[in-house]
Order: sequence, then C-alpha cells, then structure tokens
Amino acid sequence: RAKELGKSRFKVFNRKMHDQALQLMELETDLRRAVDLREFEVVYQPVVRLDTRQVCGFEALVRWRHPEHGIIGPGDFVSLAEDTGLIYAIDNMVLEEACAQVRRWQSLSVDCDGPLSVNVNISGKHFGQSMLAGQISRALEDSGLAPGSLNIEITESALMDNPNVAEEILLQLKDLGVHICIDDFGTGYSSLSYLQRFPIDVVKVDRSFIIAVDKDPDSQAIVRTIFSLGESMGLKIVAEGVETSGQLDFLEREGCQFVQGYFFYKPLTVTEVDNLLEGQRRA
Ligand code: C2E
Ligand code: MG
Ligand code: MG
Ligand code: MG
Repeated sequence: RAKELGKSRFKVFNRKMHDQALQLMELETDLRRAVDLREFEVVYQPVVRLDTRQVCGFEALVRWRHPEHGIIGPGDFVSLAEDTGLIYAIDNMVLEEACAQVRRWQSLSVDCDGPLSVNVNISGKHFGQSMLAGQISRALEDSGLAPGSLNIEITESALMDNPNVAEEILLQLKDLGVHICIDDFGTGYSSLSYLQRFPIDVVKVDRSFIIAVDKDPDSQAIVRTIFSLGESMGLKIVAEGVETSGQLDFLEREGCQFVQGYFFYKPLTVTEVDNLLEGQRRA
C-alpha cells in the first residue's frame, strides 16, 4: 500500500515537473515573440521630493502585455529573460522608450529643482556587457535627453559579481555624464567599501527596510545609518516602497529627501503621467 502510494506520488511529482517544463518552454517561445512584436509597455513611477511633494522624476518599469494572459509584471519574466539573453533587447527597448518619453515631458517645462529625471533598470547580466555604454549613448542621442537626466539603476550584486569589469563600465557611464544609482540597497550582502571604490550618485533604500520603519527599532537604525552614510558621502538617497503615513512620518523626521511608493503614486501609464504633470504645471 505504502509502495503504491509512493509510486503514485512519484507519478504526480513527475507529471507536475513535466507540466512546469512545458509551461516554461511555452513562456520562452512567447517571450521571444513578444520581443519581436514589441509586446511591452513601460509604466512610470514618480519619484517625489519630500519637502515640496513635487514629482522630480520617474522610474521606468517594464510590463508585458501578453495576448492571452494579460499584463505580466517583470517579477514573472525577467529571470527567464536573463537566462535566455532576451533581457538585452528588453532593457534596450525600455531605455530608448523611457529616454524619449521623459524628454517629451521635460518640454512641458515642469521643473523641480532642475529638469525631470528618469531611472532605468539594467539587469546585472546586461550590465557586464561591453555594449552597454554605446547603447546608452545612442538612446541619449536619439531622444535628445541630457545625460544628467538619466539614472542607471543597478544592484549591488551586479557590481560585485565582477568588480573589475563593473569599475570599467561605470567609468564609461560616468564619461557619458549619466548618474549611477544602486537599487535595492542593503540587500546585496556586500561590503560597503564599493561605495568608495565606484562612482555612485544615488542609493535606493530597499523596501524591506521601509516596511516596518514606523515601529521596528532595527529597521529604524538601518535606515538612519544609510541616511547619514549618504549625507557624509554626498549621495542622493531615495526611500523605496513607502506605503503608509507612519513610514513617511519617520522618513521626514530623519530628513529623507526623496521617496517612491504607493503612498504617493503607483507606477502610472503615459496618459496618467500626462495628467499629473498638467496638474503640477497649473499649481
Ligand atoms: P525595482 O527596480 O526595485 O522596482 C521597484 C518595484 O517595487 C516595482 O515593481 C514597483 O512597482 C514596486 N513598488 C513601488 N512602490 C511600491 C510600494 O509602495 N509597495 C510595493 N509593495 N511595491 C512597490 P515591478 O514594476 O513589479 O518591478 C519589479 C522589479 O523588476 C524591479 O524592482 C526591477 O528589479 C525589475 N525591473 C522592472 N523593470 C525592468 C526593466 O526594464 N529591466 C530590468 N532589467 N529589470 C526591470
Ligand atoms: Mg529599480
Ligand atoms: Mg528597487
Ligand atoms: Mg526592490
């Protein structure tokens, strides 16, 4: 009996693995087609300056408009895109589109202590490629966006996987005049010395430290430390994933300058940003 049970469980397990493998293969085929047919959309989450509550820039976030499954978020396809090498095409598409879009928004002349900026995520896998600086410089040229308006977001692990290559690429990017932003700061288990070694401009405090920052003393200590580190090193700090007024109160008390999160805005479509900027212009 036990044997039978074991056997059928084994079968079920096998069946499930088989189905998963099939699903993955199907998703891969779909993803290739999506890249060819440009089934992607870019949404924009505002970055808010806390003292004035003004929108100063946006993070470009990719969405896949799947013909049958509807909108798929990057959490469900970026790692497959990385494994298959499709991420290069996807990152480039987002880069080109986001630069052109934000250039258009800049011409609506809604200034926030300087022109609107845009943050573009580059996969760690893509980051190590020597073509990156060339692709960025082409996107800037094609769009007419000033290099200083573009922040390239990379994770700590992207830098630390191969620090020598990373250093070379970062220097190329600095030569172009774009800004370097560390995404998900604090989650990479790496030494802080890279902040000194690399030309970093912006650090984004990971959402995991913000979640309980209104009540958890450990989160508070970590966030305070990042803020003072940022201040002493001349880094711009952005808190990500701010959802509640309690979190915001703490961040304001601690002198946080920039936040991103559902408390102010979710990622928005182009039309939604058009309306938002129109409102900000009138105000
Ligand atoms: P990320 O770069 O850390 O982006 C922040 C993520 O947090 C976004 O998820 C955003 O929608 C979400 N978020 C923002 N505010 C809040 C909040 O208040 N609460 C909560 N719970 N979530 C919030 P999204 O758009 O699903 O993107 C997930 C990740 O996928 C991004 O994390 C980024 O690593 C990656 N990604 C997105 N777009 C691209 C892209 O064009 N290229 C590459 N390589 N990766 C991308
Ligand atoms: Mg990001
Ligand atoms: Mg992040
Ligand atoms: Mg994150």
